[in-house]
Amino acid sequence: MPVLFIGHGSPMNAITDNPYRQAWAELGARFGSDLPRPQMILCVSAHWLTHGWWLTGQARPSTIHDFGGFPQALFDQQYPAPGWPEAAAEIAAGLQAHGTPASVDAKEWGYDHGSWGVLKPMFPAADIPVLQLSLNWDAPPADHLAMGRLLRPLRDRGVLVVASGMVVHNLRAMRRELPDDQVARWLEAGDLEALAGFGSLGELARLAHPTYEHFLPLLHAAGATQPGEVPRFFNTCYQGASTALRCVAWGEA
Ligand code: ZN
Repeated sequence: MPVLFIGHGSPMNAITDNPYRQAWAELGARFGSDLPRPQMILCVSAHWLTHGWWLTGQARPSTIHDFGGFPQALFDQQYPAPGWPEAAAEIAAGLQAHGTPASVDAKEWGYDHGSWGVLKPMFPAADIPVLQLSLNWDAPPADHLAMGRLLRPLRDRGVLVVASGMVVHNLRAMRRELPDDQVARWLEAGDLEALAGFGSLGELARLAHPTYEHFLPLLHAAGATQPGEVPRFFNTCYQGASTALRCVAWGEA
């Protein structure tokens, strides 16, 4: 199964007619035709930050509208894809067996907009089960890369890993000399250690990501790739001044 990183940009991209959403939809439509149909989607969203690692465990996950100041049409959106509590429990147990504490949350979290905002355009039928994996806010970037590596075997079991964030995310900085190109070069070279060491860019890294939550999903996706797997980039542009929409697909997608 391929691995995807989606730069989600503004929440409005989910419901407006724009070239980014169109590219997501075109890619999603290929699953079940020239790409295999996923048994399940594991989504790592920039918008679920937790202490420790968590997996969603609801059978019917709720659609979360975790934003403010947008039109009612965005709050009216639902993504009714089923969950898969048994799979969540199995994956959590597998992570625990590797010494990575992971838990299942059957009550609070459903699909946040980092998740449904891209999955709805990609898989509008909402008939593929989805689990979300949280971002452990206590873990350093290297641990997020390591988590991606633990997710890698799931690809052989028909699980599509969709990581949703942004390569550059700064809603305040009005400048574009931010390291989107550098990140692309690391991905092309398969230099994942450099990717996880993004903070070494210093001031540039801080400008690109005042907080790191939109960057961390990229480490999960990159970690789930096999050595030598070639990334394909699309939506390689900025939305507004300093949010990058770059998407990355590995595995012939
Ligand atoms: Zn976001």
